[in-house]
Amino acid sequence: MRKRTIALLAFAGLAVGVVGFFFVAPGVVEAGRNKIEPVGPIISEAGRGFQDTIDLHADTLLWDRDLLGTVARGHVDLTRLRQGGVALQVFASVTNSPAGMNVERNETAQFDMIMPLVIAQRQSPRTWSSTLERALFHAQKLEDAAARSDGRLRVLRSPEDIERLFADRNANAQAECGDPGAGDCLRWPVGGMLALEGLQVLEGEIDNIDRLHAAGYIMAGLAHFIDNPFSGSMHGASRAGLSESGRAAVARMEELGMIVDLAHASPQAIDDVLAMARRPVVSSHGGVRGTCPNNRNLSDEQVRGIAATGGIVGIGYWPTAVCGLTVEAIVRALLHVRDVAGIDHVALGSDFDGAVTVGFDAASVQAIATALIEAGLSPEDIAKIMGGNARRVLSEGIRPL
Ligand SMILES: [Zn+2]
Repeated sequence: MRKRTIALLAFAGLAVGVVGFFFVAPGVVEAGRNKIEPVGPIISEAGRGFQDTIDLHADTLLWDRDLLGTVARGHVDLTRLRQGGVALQVFASVTNSPAGMNVERNETAQFDMIMPLVIAQRQSPRTWSSTLERALFHAQKLEDAAARSDGRLRVLRSPEDIERLFADRNANAQAECGDPGAGDCLRWPVGGMLALEGLQVLEGEIDNIDRLHAAGYIMAGLAHFIDNPFSGSMHGASRAGLSESGRAAVARMEELGMIVDLAHASPQAIDDVLAMARRPVVSSHGGVRGTCPNNRNLSDEQVRGIAATGGIVGIGYWPTAVCGLTVEAIVRALLHVRDVAGIDHVALGSDFDGAVTVGFDAASVQAIATALIEAGLSPEDIAKIMGGNARRVLSEGIRPL
């Protein structure tokens, strides 16, 4: 009898644990990782007029949350993008994240924390151990959200898609509000584009670039927090540059019209790419050592190298990138890139939902435009930073050679 009671209690405990793991844990984990410590972002009427913002990096697809939903977790969803005047969000696919992840040094053998997350999130077993399957799942997730969005969210793959997005946003604003420049006129639709965070996703097979491009990916970082057979990471153990297969991967990406993203790449890999790039490259999210000196951020020389390809540097909003949470800290980094490389090479790359703490979410991005007005920049220059430069590079970079 006692044995049966103990067995029943053990079973009940296990059931509670299983339910907690699959239905409660994913939300709790996300709420603990993607935090906001509000900095009271100020948005002026003129700041709100900037409605064509492009952000180069958010990790929203990693988490168990509907982009169209109203769960007030994390930093990005369709409602908040629209409120913040974000026309186009690049959604990155995170497929590996080492336990104890840090910006200085991670061993390739470190346990991958994405595995328990995808199991807890009840993703298909195909995604449990395959980085490639995780990326294909993320692409499908964005496509599904767009299909359910009643035309409010679109997945963009070509320069023509980008042009059509901005034309339609303008036409819709005109139809709905009369004055399309009015700050209180929320525009739609919102565009989404897909990017890969690290070539570990290829699982060693260069042909998988074509497969992922066909699935909608238009940009790829070389490495994430660990080294992979194609490239060293800035947080890896080897500090290696591009391998032979890494060079072949970069060349194939350029042919297809996939933009090379230098965020997280080792300094040697950055030099290797800059030496061979035939097309504009980006650093999608991060900071600059000129305002925030650490191993995660770009030197002035690297910023100039990216600019020399015609590319852009996307500034992130979290403390490791800009040494603070405030809008002013972000603006300092943006203006440093301008001073070092010129206004045409400055862009936004929040790293929203990237397991980072930020001072505001996607609904308040126009606080940056507001601060740039305060800093005395012209409307033309502000428009370039908020999205104009990114629009140029995305349109140019995704056209097949
Ligand atoms: Zn990242």
